[in-house]
Amino acid sequence: MENPDTPLQAVHDRIARACKAARRDPAEITLVAVSKTHPAGAIAPLLHQGQRVFGENRVQEAQAKWPALRESHPDVQLHLVGQLQSNKAEEAVALFDCIHSLDRPSLLKALARAMDKAGRRVPCFVQVNVGEEEQKGGCAVPDLPGLIAQARGADIPLAGLMCIPPLGIEPAPFFALLDKLARDNGLAGRSMGMSGDYETAVMTGATHVRVGTALFGQRAR
Ligand SMILES: *Cc1c(COP(=O)(O)O)cnc(C)c1O
Repeated sequence: MENPDTPLQAVHDRIARACKAARRDPAEITLVAVSKTHPAGAIAPLLHQGQRVFGENRVQEAQAKWPALRESHPDVQLHLVGQLQSNKAEEAVALFDCIHSLDRPSLLKALARAMDKAGRRVPCFVQVNVGEEEQKGGCAVPDLPGLIAQARGADIPLAGLMCIPPLGIEPAPFFALLDKLARDNGLAGRSMGMSGDYETAVMTGATHVRVGTALFGQRAR
């Protein structure tokens, strides 16, 4: 790293410390830099510092920002971390290298159809509603084995499970639940942890942490 005083280096240092405490190898953790709402000018410094995996939560915003950035950095991997409407499945499959929000049969069918049509299989995380929150996206825990079976049947490559735990309470038990569900279902990836709790997530088994604010600063409201 060229400059140890960047937010990117600070996040890497914290991930390394959490890994050390948990006796994990930092190479097991993928940092997804969530650049939603931030313009290309804010993303360029991270690209310059070597960051290559980025997350966006809106198809349209990603379509507007990333084609130009990718021209100069064709090795960028773009992850969709936000909820996806079925009618945007084709655009999402064309643009993203990984989708973190597969959470229902209707979206699964739309994604399978889009992948067949594009001749491109995009790895997906199944998002799980670990806090049983009504307003939140994610598959209910009891429905998870069925959705996973359906994804496997439709030849959707499964990267693992993803969760966003409830706000304002200790996230570790929810991360531990996601870790257990991934293990029970034979899935390798655990996408969990954001700016406020990614170290806890690393200590409880995260393979992908989705960090925005700690890298880019506050988003405008
Ligand atoms: C915005 C967002 C993040 C990043 O959140 P920060 O708190 O800014 O790190 C992570 N995951 C998802 C699904 C998001 O929408």
